[in-house]
Amino acid sequence: MENSIRDNKYDLIIIGAGASGIIAGISAARESKKVLILEKMPKIAMKLKATGGGKCNLTNTLLNENFISAFGKNGRFMTTALEKFDWQRLREFFDDIGVETHYPDGTRVFPISHNSQTIIDALEKEMNDLGVDIVCNANVQKIITVNNRIEKIQTTNDIYECENIIVATGGYGYPTLGTSGDGHRIVKNLGHKITEVYPAMMPLNTKEDWTKNCTADTIPKVSMCINIKKYKKHKAKGDLIFTKTGIAGPVVLDFAREITPLFDKYDEIPLMINFIDDMNENKLIEFLKKESIKNPQNTILKYLEKLLPKSLIIQLAKMVDVDCEQTYKKLDGIKKVNFIKILCSTPLTIIKNQDSFKKAMITRGGISLKEIDPNTMKSKIIDGLYFCGEIVDLDGPCGGFNLQWAFSSGCLAGKLGQ
Ligand SMILES: Cc1cc2nc3c(=O)[nH]c(=O)nc-3n(C[C@H](O)[C@H](O)[C@H](O)COP(=O)(O)OP(=O)(O)OC[C@H]3O[C@@H](n4cnc5c(N)ncnc54)[C@H](O)[C@@H]3O)c2cc1C
Repeated sequence: MENSIRDNKYDLIIIGAGASGIIAGISAARESKKVLILEKMPKIAMKLKATGGGKCNLTNTLLNENFISAFGKNGRFMTTALEKFDWQRLREFFDDIGVETHYPDGTRVFPISHNSQTIIDALEKEMNDLGVDIVCNANVQKIITVNNRIEKIQTTNDIYECENIIVATGGYGYPTLGTSGDGHRIVKNLGHKITEVYPAMMPLNTKEDWTKNCTADTIPKVSMCINIKKYKKHKAKGDLIFTKTGIAGPVVLDFAREITPLFDKYDEIPLMINFIDDMNENKLIEFLKKESIKNPQNTILKYLEKLLPKSLIIQLAKMVDVDCEQTYKKLDGIKKVNFIKILCSTPLTIIKNQDSFKKAMITRGGISLKEIDPNTMKSKIIDGLYFCGEIVDLDGPCGGFNLQWAFSSGCLAGKLGQ
């Protein structure tokens, strides 16, 4: 079937009605630009809807300096975008369009409704008021350029003429929400370099299957490190939960972005985990001694239950052949050494999950930052081409970092270099 040519002239066409594409559209329309957003899914902002477990952790209250450093070596690229539109400006923006926000834990910012739909409804209304056109079920296939200038954009059914395009198609994670790397392919065809991409922010699968016996509890303040000499400096601390196939929870989601790139070199990634907050072997021995003096008739399990969930104690004891229903006095020799050791440093081995992008909240890698002007988000290769959001080679940890980047970069890209 021939594509039909749409002759509405737009100043700007945006590919993707996610967080960054929508704010880019608003930013451009507020400068009196005629804007069209093409969205592949039947509805706009499907990923935004799912954020923060439906509560939408919009941003956080960190100083720009600290915010930037959480993105690692590429973070500096964000400086201009953040200076122009930081977390306070974002809150003002939402306040302006009728969404009150707050930060109940002092750091993470949410809409007061704790409902991402509030955000989407307000953004949609603002786009409507500004006359931004949106076409859903419009799957963009190709950008057509002549002499390195934007000419046309082609969806499965239509061709639109335009001079400026913002690619805001997100990453590869959660393809059911519309993101499966389309933008990367489209932009690669135009000569842009895409760095290696990896799934990030997702649960991890372990080789050990005992995790399935401990799924009931959340363990707070768990410390973990990669148990490979070269990577031992990679450490994380936070809440962990066990799953039927491995580990999950905030600390794991964050640490995943350090681990997945290592599968290029290793088949398995060994981790060393300390489930007891701030307890090394000496401190644990001290603790057990004190407990056994206070309550000599109690079992080791009883003492340790003050520190860890029962299911995990039983599991770890089983692994070193210790009966944790005995008293501390009876535990001796090599068994005691092994038990103390495994309680303070438990080995777990991460194995590759073939479907990992399915559950990856973030994509690590993307359009090479070397080919984008950080002051405008404009391509250094194609005239009239801009990018924003997760599609570029920047990814942050959990806690409002990635949405703030989507909003800051979208706002900047929508200015079209002015
Ligand atoms: C479950 C989940 C929870 C999250 N929670 C948080 C959170 O609480 N806080 C936080 O900061 N971050 C969170 N994130 C990450 C955050 O959602 C993303 O970083 C952010 O949405 C990226 O915005 P974006 O505009 O770049 O891309 P997206 O929001 O992914 O939007 C891209 C849009 O482009 C469309 N598209 C793709 N290809 C085409 C095409 N060919 N043609 C037309 N349209 C196309 C997609 O359908 C999609 O609507 C979460 C992610 C997930 C998956």
